[in-house]
Amino acid sequence: PKYDTQELRQQDGRHHLHPFTDTKDLGDNSRIITQADGIYIYDSEGNRILDAMAGLWCVNLGYGRQELVDAARQQMQELPYYNNFFKTAHPPAIKLARKLTELAPEHINHVFFTGSGSESNDTVVRMVRRYWQLKGQPDKTVIIGRRNGYHGSTVAGASLGGMAPMHEQGGPMLADIEHIAQPYWFGEGREMDPQEFGLLAARSLEQKIKEVGVDRVAAFIAEPVQGAGGVIIPPESYWPEIQRICDHYGILLIADEVICGFGRVGQWFGSQHFNIKPDLMPIAKGLSSGYLPIGGVLVGDRVADLLIEQGGEFYHGFTYSGHPACAAVALRNLELLEEEGIIDRVRETTGPYFAKQWASLASHPLVGEARSLGLLGALELVADKDTMARFEPGIGGQCRDNCFKTGIVMRSVGEIMVVSPPLVITEAEIDQLVALARQSLDLTARQLGI
Ligand code: PLP
Repeated sequence: PKYDTQELRQQDGRHHLHPFTDTKDLGDNSRIITQADGIYIYDSEGNRILDAMAGLWCVNLGYGRQELVDAARQQMQELPYYNNFFKTAHPPAIKLARKLTELAPEHINHVFFTGSGSESNDTVVRMVRRYWQLKGQPDKTVIIGRRNGYHGSTVAGASLGGMAPMHEQGGPMLADIEHIAQPYWFGEGREMDPQEFGLLAARSLEQKIKEVGVDRVAAFIAEPVQGAGGVIIPPESYWPEIQRICDHYGILLIADEVICGFGRVGQWFGSQHFNIKPDLMPIAKGLSSGYLPIGGVLVGDRVADLLIEQGGEFYHGFTYSGHPACAAVALRNLELLEEEGIIDRVRETTGPYFAKQWASLASHPLVGEARSLGLLGALELVADKDTMARFEPGIGGQCRDNCFKTGIVMRSVGEIMVVSPPLVITEAEIDQLVALARQSLDLTARQLGI
């Protein structure tokens, strides 16, 4: 064999601090992934696993696309690195900026490049506060996010997000960040009509604005569909009411498109599906299908015009802002998504097909709800389908480990199992995904004696 799995596992456990992993618990048990093709990954022992998470919600075009490899190689040979600071630029960054602003809603005509989703959200914080300074309202510094939202792991990203463990670890969060309710009907509103619940969740933004004072509130940030929080698909009533409140109080709306962007819900951006008009859209992940790290902030005219006209030099930027090889790969990725009609397919055929097949899992004894939008799916694991009582914590993790044994990657978020497969998935592969999910649930049920 090409790899000595045991040796790799030992070295991994000894030297490698993994993100979002209990290293002590890991021991020498890591799964070593060595290859990938299409929607499948392969481990060092040759097992084929259906990657229903597209890596970390990012490999939208699937693995093994030679066109992206070629785009990287060509650019690395021509100009492997240069920056976009101090009045310089290079063709890949310029072309990508133009392409992105063509694809974005009409009122968005600028992009600021970063290296990741977290850096994009850090950029958003500084940009929003700068905007209000320039408007002559420097006290408007408060940004409102949502409980259980995820916006990255830098200090600003973790602060904007609403994940309790992230707030508890590592000391004080960034000042002037507030959080409101999430529109999580199954978990927090089941006794109500979903649309009424959606309105109630949205109106917690209005309450928070009143509580903090409108003269202090700068912006509201949310993911169109909360991803890492458990694929929380808001009721239809939610986003129009959020938009109304942002408009009414004149605060900036930030739609974190890091997961929803680039076709995940059947439109270029999640904001287009929900028909909202954000001032800022952080992007990353699917921008390059994860082949190389790149992110950015799409900046609407309201903010861009002021920054450009009155802001002078913005003291902000990253060495890898618009990195040439990353930008070249991202551009080719967007062209391929377009040329192959992949996003239309998600909206018109594979998305609806996935919705139907995924919904069939609702009849499984462990599943309280099976929901989906585009190619995002979630299963709520419950101990009792009549009362929807939850399991003790830990069953989600057990189910996730069973998925690997069965040959599929699903992620667990507490007791919610989530999927986000590559957008190139075919109907036959969707059948396979659902069958493997069912087998993993069956195995978990057997272990629980259900
Ligand atoms: N925003 C959202 C909505 C995300 O899901 C993520 C990552 O999962 C991020 C931001 C952070 O992106 P990155 O991990 O590239 O820093």
